[in-house]
Amino acid sequence: MRTLIANGTVVTAEGSYPADVLVDGEQIAHVGSDLANAAAADETIDATGRYVIPGGIDIHTHMELPFGGTFAKDTFETGTRAAAFGGTTTIVDFAVQSRGKSLREGLDAWHAKAEGNAVVDYGFHMIMSDVNDDTLAEMDQLVAEGVPDFKLFTAYPGVFFSDDGAIFRAMQRTGKNGGLIMMHAENGLAIDVIAADTVAAGTTDPIGHGLARYSVLEGEATNRVIRLAQAAKVPVYIVHLSAREALDAVRLARDEGLPAFAETCPQYLFLSLDDMGHGFEGAKFICSPPLRTIDHQPELWKGLVKDDLQVVSTDHCPFDFHGQKDLGKGDFRKVPNGLPGVEDRMDLLHDGGVVGGKITKERWVEVTSTAPARLFGMYPRKGTISVGADADIVVYDPNRSHTISAKTHHMNVDYSCYEGRSVRGGSDVVMSRGSVVVRNGEFTGRKGAGKFLKRAAADFARMA
Ligand SMILES: [Zn+2]
Repeated sequence: MRTLIANGTVVTAEGSYPADVLVDGEQIAHVGSDLANAAAADETIDATGRYVIPGGIDIHTHMELPFGGTFAKDTFETGTRAAAFGGTTTIVDFAVQSRGKSLREGLDAWHAKAEGNAVVDYGFHMIMSDVNDDTLAEMDQLVAEGVPDFKLFTAYPGVFFSDDGAIFRAMQRTGKNGGLIMMHAENGLAIDVIAADTVAAGTTDPIGHGLARYSVLEGEATNRVIRLAQAAKVPVYIVHLSAREALDAVRLARDEGLPAFAETCPQYLFLSLDDMGHGFEGAKFICSPPLRTIDHQPELWKGLVKDDLQVVSTDHCPFDFHGQKDLGKGDFRKVPNGLPGVEDRMDLLHDGGVVGGKITKERWVEVTSTAPARLFGMYPRKGTISVGADADIVVYDPNRSHTISAKTHHMNVDYSCYEGRSVRGGSDVVMSRGSVVVRNGEFTGRKGAGKFLKRAAADFARMA
């Protein structure tokens, strides 16, 4: 099967130019302006007036994550389908090692959830809840199996929390096996004290979640884990950075030449603490780190422009407002943490970033696709439009507008954080390894077509 994508503007991290793209089977066979072999195409997709971009890569999702006695609602089928509608053709999800169990058991469980269900390609990172001789040894094996990243937490005492010694040991191990440590950096021990004080003082509504998780405690933990990585002589990647203080810590480290990397998420660029008011409605916006006051937003945009933030991913972790978020009625600490977002990322960033004049369209492609591919061992197979790359391609209309709503989105969750927001830009045709999976709002893909991505260790993070 040969498909010609004709007359579009190819947009990559490096630049934009008018070109046709010929797809042969699962790969890109040719990129150029006068394709002699175009006549041999089985199908031609006209991309006039539209961008031809590498499919989005969301390296931070939580399909079916167990949290607070319930599970994130999207499965690998519904979640990757929603991703595809939004122009994202690869996700990297977090497999979970439960306390007292092996990494292997956690990874096997995630393979079982995804295999035969995902509609686009997927990889895994590993959440480590225990750091001990056994799990440290298992890390080497996972790196060899294409799961080279390990997420640890300075938050959630008693659940995912690791102390500094545990984090340092895991970091030392990646110095030997080539893996990458990803950190959820908030001082969870101090935050739990403040949260208890907040409840005791009578604030039990969701706004208390935002008020208790001080941004300075994200800054403190971010600096701490960066310095632990410096001592262990390894790179470190900060997930879901939300606050100016944390960005300051990353920027300082990078100015010193340290291999510190960080992502932010659409919710921190487009939503704020104000959304957490309105009584229990604010539970829709409970995630950790929490939404910040609005003055943090321009700092995060600056970080994206100056490459102190390299990636925008979603931390997609959807819980229904009715039946799940309401587990925390009367105590914000019991609200499951997480927001839906995998479907909206590309459009929000295009609308608020590119149309909004904050970043170029090339930078938009870089932070949503190319940089994640490079940092997480998928480049150049994913994350760019070039000969030999997987034909994960989106024909993107930069002028089409639509309104985000839970009534029309494809994520399996009963609300949207962006309900009623009009965005400019949308994915017209979405291709996963040469097969069209979404065309003009219709799903044409297949459950189980997505394959597990065996990823390379983080060489890019070591050289950059
Ligand atoms: Zn997460």
